[in-house]
Amino acid sequence: MISIAIDGPSGAGKSTIARAVAKELGLTYVDTGALYRAIGLFAKRSGICDTDEKALGPRLKEAEISISHKGGAQRVFLCGEDVSEEIRRPEMSMAASNVSAMPPVRAFLLELQREMARRHSVIMDGRDIGTVVIPGADLKIFLTASPEDRAKRRYKEFIARGEKVEPEAVLRDIIKRDHNDSTRAESPLRRAPGAVLLDTTGNTLDESVELVLKTIKEYVEL
Ligand code: C5P
Repeated sequence: MISIAIDGPSGAGKSTIARAVAKELGLTYVDTGALYRAIGLFAKRSGICDTDEKALGPRLKEAEISISHKGGAQRVFLCGEDVSEEIRRPEMSMAASNVSAMPPVRAFLLELQREMARRHSVIMDGRDIGTVVIPGADLKIFLTASPEDRAKRRYKEFIARGEKVEPEAVLRDIIKRDHNDSTRAESPLRRAPGAVLLDTTGNTLDESVELVLKTIKEYVEL
């Protein structure tokens, strides 16, 4: 069983790269951001403001969250319903960032993530995978790129999905989420001790995938 942790800010290409690497190496890809997005959606559906920890905390036990993998693609379920598409809507990004700052939310999702790493050979991406979820991972990577590069990628993804967004708004959202994610008291976004730093600014996707594969082959006995 092997485990690879990839952390880094929004839009660094973690999920696209990790998915490609998982396919190449036969690993299970776990996208942990999707779990926080599902909690954001749960708050929205329950009529709870996504910054209201007092209201959300006690209701978390009603949020049944599970993940499954079909043909390499991760699907996320909220109370039995497949919400994999709905959690990708632009407004769910900030909702996820808001709920992810709450200690009860992080505690609620921790065991589910660790369980995945215990049962499968995983490449898991998020913000605290190397620092909190699997600090003993075989390899920890901190993947980053300039905010402008990351915003450009996110903008293209939204447009490809037919979402109406302004490029400036996407950049603003990235900068705000960077700030939220790295300054929160609970599990802030940090480079874990021993994590390899990879900067993908200016790279094509293929170049970034190659860089990560090369790093894995260098550090992990597959
Ligand atoms: O990676 P993604 O953009 O889907 O993550 C959504 C939000 O969930 C992030 O902005 C971050 O606040 C939060 N998150 C987290 N810890 C993780 C994964 C995501 O706090 N392991």
